[in-house]
Amino acid sequence: MQETLIKKAQQYIANTYTRFPIVVTKGEGCWLWDLDGRRYLDFLAGIAVCSLGHANPNVRDGIIAQANKLFHVSNLFYTEPQVKAAEILVEHSFGDKVFFCNSGAEANEAAIKLARRYSWKKYGEGRHEIIVMENSFHGRTLATVSATGQPKFQEGFAPLLEGFICVPFNRIDLVAERLSGKTCAVMIELIQAEGGVYPAKKEYVKKLRDITAGKDILLIIDEVQTGIGRTGKFFAYEHYDIEPDIISLAKALGSGLPVGAIIGKEHVMEAFVPGTHASTFGGSPIGAAAITATLNTLIDEKIIERCEETGKYLRKGLLSLKKRYPFIVDVRGMGLIWGVELSIDGDELVKEFLKEGIIVNCVKGKVLRLVPPLIVKKEEIDIFIDIANRIFERKKS
Ligand SMILES: *Cc1c(COP(=O)(O)O)cnc(C)c1O
Repeated sequence: MQETLIKKAQQYIANTYTRFPIVVTKGEGCWLWDLDGRRYLDFLAGIAVCSLGHANPNVRDGIIAQANKLFHVSNLFYTEPQVKAAEILVEHSFGDKVFFCNSGAEANEAAIKLARRYSWKKYGEGRHEIIVMENSFHGRTLATVSATGQPKFQEGFAPLLEGFICVPFNRIDLVAERLSGKTCAVMIELIQAEGGVYPAKKEYVKKLRDITAGKDILLIIDEVQTGIGRTGKFFAYEHYDIEPDIISLAKALGSGLPVGAIIGKEHVMEAFVPGTHASTFGGSPIGAAAITATLNTLIDEKIIERCEETGKYLRKGLLSLKKRYPFIVDVRGMGLIWGVELSIDGDELVKEFLKEGIIVNCVKGKVLRLVPPLIVKKEEIDIFIDIANRIFERKKS
């Protein structure tokens, strides 16, 4: 049954993804079911999106209640759900104002445009450069792919957008060297997730904040993957004792509805006025209802606090695997985003995990990226570690 649908998909859908060879029909908590009724433990969570697990009842009810009232009205009007969502985001962050959009790439686009415009308003032409990091990932639009520090994502798309200066990650001296009178912003992920789960060093981020603040250079933190509880705090920047100027959000923000946002300080957000930047769907009533239900559930049920503990439990399990199997060369991460770096083919392992009923994904061909729902239970982590042991044991012999 699944093969028929997969063939049809290959006929009708653009071939932009290497997909798991299963047709997913339903999800609940940390589990997914395929068309043949087989169950899988989901340690990918829709690529760090379904933090509350699948089919969270609060989010579902929030979406349904809003759908019963109003789908869409455009940003030419005010709506309650949009105001509510913005209020919660501001109350739980460094920021003062929110701009809503529909994806991570769009959020980063907005951040890039905002940084340029802020600088242009204050300092005039020519101060438009943005320092970005090698091995970063910021999205697939032309501007965000230009900002992305991985040539493989840029191949065939030249000419790219000008004005991005790419420097090695975690090297403050090399950032300092490239800051100039033309720099308006530095853009960075605090964990390079798509790049292989590489956390930024604390000292580095603190110094980055110091040297940018002194020159009125904006610090943009791409929290599309790390935000909304993933790292064990509401936002990853909270681990670093700093305040950014702009953060971008998407992925887990709406539990699966296509929503994105940037949050910024008042004096920065002022650079956007009517006519400068916009989005037809941004902050749409149903999307905003999903954001509010997601955030309220995370807060009311203390899920972020809990995930810090389950994260430690997962880390312990992963370190025990590392001790046992010499082809695990590193285990790194925070909260519930973990990378298991291998000296063997990771894509092959992903297939074996799937056969054993576990969904994991591999980045860079050699790093298993574990981003389970934040509601994952210790018993589910035990299942994952048991099966990993079984698979790795076979690899060892
Ligand atoms: C996924 C991701 C993006 C892109 O988000 P889309 O919603 O796919 O456009 C940007 N930045 C980071 C850090 C991401 O993980």
